[in-house]
Amino acid sequence: MEEKVILEDRQGEALIMEGNGANGRKLYLESYGCAMNFSDSEIVASILQKEGFTTTRNVEEADLVMLNTCSIREKAEATVRKRLQLFKKQKLTNPGLIVGILGCMAERMKETLLEEEKLVDIVVGPDAYRDLPSLIKQVDGGQKAVNVLLSRDETYADISPIKLGGNGVTAFISITRGCDNMCSFCVVPFTRGRERSRNPLSIVAEARQLFDEGYREVTLLGQNVDSYRWNISKKGEIEDPNIPTTNFAQLLEMVALVHPDLRVRFSTSHPKDMTDDVLHTMAKYENICKYIHLPVQSGNTEVLKKMNRGYTREWYDERMKAIKRIMPDCAISTDVITGFCGETEEQHQDTLSLMREVRYDYAYMFFYSERPKTLAERKFEDDIPLEVKKRRLAEVIEIQNANSLYRLEQQVGKEYKILIEGPSRKYPEEQLCGRNSQNAMVVIPKGPYPKGSYVNVYIESCTGATLFGKVID
Ligand code: SF4
Repeated sequence: MEEKVILEDRQGEALIMEGNGANGRKLYLESYGCAMNFSDSEIVASILQKEGFTTTRNVEEADLVMLNTCSIREKAEATVRKRLQLFKKQKLTNPGLIVGILGCMAERMKETLLEEEKLVDIVVGPDAYRDLPSLIKQVDGGQKAVNVLLSRDETYADISPIKLGGNGVTAFISITRGCDNMCSFCVVPFTRGRERSRNPLSIVAEARQLFDEGYREVTLLGQNVDSYRWNISKKGEIEDPNIPTTNFAQLLEMVALVHPDLRVRFSTSHPKDMTDDVLHTMAKYENICKYIHLPVQSGNTEVLKKMNRGYTREWYDERMKAIKRIMPDCAISTDVITGFCGETEEQHQDTLSLMREVRYDYAYMFFYSERPKTLAERKFEDDIPLEVKKRRLAEVIEIQNANSLYRLEQQVGKEYKILIEGPSRKYPEEQLCGRNSQNAMVVIPKGPYPKGSYVNVYIESCTGATLFGKVID
């Protein structure tokens, strides 16, 4: 899973949670980075609610401040360090304030975070959130507290996440934790540990509960959803003959069968593991959305080898063709990194040619940011000058902007079923918005269509990011 941009604009959004308030203390929680982190924050909120914490949007009145952090690029950590300065002043006026760092930055830096950021009291890694209550007691006792133990089987499957923020229509459900892929540029295997899958029955139960609560779309989350496997060993053997095995295609079908009005999305797929089985299952169910996020990172086989991505350009092209063969109307997005160690101009041109060929609906695009302790940091020199990294990124972005517009223009003049998410951001008084199965945002004039309802829309026009239409039944 490559951490996503979509959610970065929601940085710093305080989340409201009603607790029994038994201890009368207030929690202020901020989440950064990918959907996995937002999903984890809902687990943290649930654990602390049981301890009697309530939440506040007003950081001034907080007794406990928790930042759930991202470590995917240097910039993500710099953002958190800057944010911490805000709490320095607050701690002067409220010495009892507890400041905690959660997530990938906590796991990557461990105790050094306490040395480098004196105002931090608690450091907790993504697999240790159950320990939060006793860590808080430790701090109440006047000590600093750290737990960054990674687990081989923690999935928090028995903890009902508390839905924080959001629109009450779409929700995330984590299905795996950790990653075994070891892409050479990536910190995730070090910050989130070994891959493990969650019991499919607990996933289906959560999807059913969300549907009963009015949610109409779930996104199944994992660093690499295609390697989801239950009761199947890494070698593909059955672990316990007394219980059924479940792979990702089967899990998708189980969730799709919860209810035909519950849409199913998933993120993130991996080109080396995505099977035709998954594609045929998607094609079989109308409520499994026709959208795949399939990170490529580079269009050149030599670079992919150095990135340890586990596939070649030719393999990736074949996966693209399989998607379009089995689901011609399926939208595809990707991730691209420019300026990876040793990337030649010619190899960069291969990335540009891939983007021109596939014409992605959307892409998350970055230049290479070296991360400590990764395979690439240890084995390769970060030798591409910054201005070259940036120039190559600008070329990739230019092609993608044209691709996004082209893909949206292809949807003009067609009819789509959209799921109403609520008022549009730009004109909330006059317009409603929602996505079609291809994950494109559609804006329609305001009307008697409550959020969570489906309407059929004729697309009349588009911009480079949004479709505009009118309801047709
Ligand atoms: S190691 Fe690779 S597959 Fe795993 S999270 Fe990182 S980039 Fe994604």
